[in-house]
Amino acid sequence: MELTAWTYSPAPESRQVVSLRPSYGLFVDGEFVAPRGGGFFPTVNPATEETLAEVALAGPEDVDRAVGAARRAYEGRWGRMRGTERAKYVYRLARLIQERARELAVLETLDNGKPIREARDIDVPLAAAHFFYYAGWADKLEYAGLGPSPRPLGVAGQVVPWNFPLLMAAWKLAPALAAGNTCVLKPAETTPLSALVLAEICQQAELPPGVVNVVTGPGSTGAAVVSHPGVDKVAFTGSTEVGKGIQRALAGTGKRLTLELGGKAANIVFDDAPLDQAVEGIVDGIFFNQGHVCCAGSRLLVQEAVAEAVLDRLKQRVETLRLGDPLDKNTDIGAINSAAQLAKIEELAASGEAEGAERWSPPCAVPERGYWFPPTIFTGVSQSHRIAREEIFGPVLSVLTFRTPAEAVAKANNTPYGLSAGVWTEKGSRAQWVARHLRAGVVWANTFNRFDPASPFGGYQESGFGREGGRHGLEAYLEAGDA
Ligand code: NAP
Ligand code: MG
Repeated sequence: MELTAWTYSPAPESRQVVSLRPSYGLFVDGEFVAPRGGGFFPTVNPATEETLAEVALAGPEDVDRAVGAARRAYEGRWGRMRGTERAKYVYRLARLIQERARELAVLETLDNGKPIREARDIDVPLAAAHFFYYAGWADKLEYAGLGPSPRPLGVAGQVVPWNFPLLMAAWKLAPALAAGNTCVLKPAETTPLSALVLAEICQQAELPPGVVNVVTGPGSTGAAVVSHPGVDKVAFTGSTEVGKGIQRALAGTGKRLTLELGGKAANIVFDDAPLDQAVEGIVDGIFFNQGHVCCAGSRLLVQEAVAEAVLDRLKQRVETLRLGDPLDKNTDIGAINSAAQLAKIEELAASGEAEGAERWSPPCAVPERGYWFPPTIFTGVSQSHRIAREEIFGPVLSVLTFRTPAEAVAKANNTPYGLSAGVWTEKGSRAQWVARHLRAGVVWANTFNRFDPASPFGGYQESGFGREGGRHGLEAYLEAGDA
């Protein structure tokens, strides 16, 4: 049967559910305050290039104020509060995220460029789920595996990237608060808005002032947070390059550190895999969130016998993906988050061609304004190509082939990263064997990009260290107490 191109009427989600303020201050000590030094910067909608709002730029003095507020809250009411009481606040945050889910989803789509379908069905519900999950831990910390009376670390400085702005903030705040810490959160420069609405939600929940503070700004604001002497614990999600710099800067300070960095995951398809399902998993693995996913399945390793069949079906499927208005409920591929990220993707894709790989994209009209990149597949890729080694962080798939399971594992592990991987096979024993031999923090079998707050997530090697989610996620915010 031939696939025909389906046409859809536009089905835009309403923008009216979001009422943006023209300008946002910093959230310090329970209030929105003007920055003392840095002024304001715009945050734009990457699908239209329109300015959405002005956001305060926090300088070192502002960060100092936020850390001071977090310290007072830690030494005051929050630090003395019983776990049963803290749990109620964390539950309240979860419930308020659910109540404001539609608004948060539209806001995230406007500020980030991701399809509303994903913001609505994945980012926001998972963010709420993390608060629900960790609320349940707040009065059970003695079962976290750190002895009978584990203690919080103090003030946590938390820096997050732009690909899942609200969800990454939830991954950071929920375990920290449940464990009794206070927080200074630095969202990414290009996507600060959902963290600021989360700050409003903290006010709505009547969270004691200073327990959560949000300081917006560029990388220098993040650097001021992580290097502040009043910060006891640093949690960073972002690029390997910046992560390494933070690790160097923190060496010898006694601060606790967890790093969630980049990835170059292999998605391995064996010849006995259910191919249609595998094709869905390949598409989800690399085109979800425009490929702006640290654990994206950016290297497809397909067994030679089925390589042609998989590629044919994959290309047919990719031809049906709709790229365009992120607010349209039928959109599969939204905008690239920034001009800088688009330039990085373009440069790496050009290197793929220059190094001899074959580039393919479906016929795909790209809007005139905004930042866009069509879904792209490279075949004839060899392991030495930059597109097989470097994280592209865009909708670009590099396809390699293999003959034996041992070769698949060797190629999958041929990377300095080690965050995630996928394996597609009908044989359970083979999936288990491959998973045991892969050096990756998460291995999905016959699925990809599945997340659950109860399940730990994190990397090996240059993908960082420490785990977020599950009981393991608490260890990053607790130390063993006295027996
Ligand atoms: P990035 O440049 O490292 O930025 C991440 C965050 O750090 C942003 O808030 C950034 O601020 C801030 N920052 C920049 N320089 C800093 C410095 N010197 N000190 C402290 N903070 C600093 O990363 P990105 O390119 O925005 O994000 C994409 C990367 O994140 C990818 O490599 C991806 O794999 C990784 N990621 C990993 C995970 C995971 O769980 N492992 C999850 C999501 C993303 P600005 O926004 O102002 O630059
Ligand atoms: Mg950045």
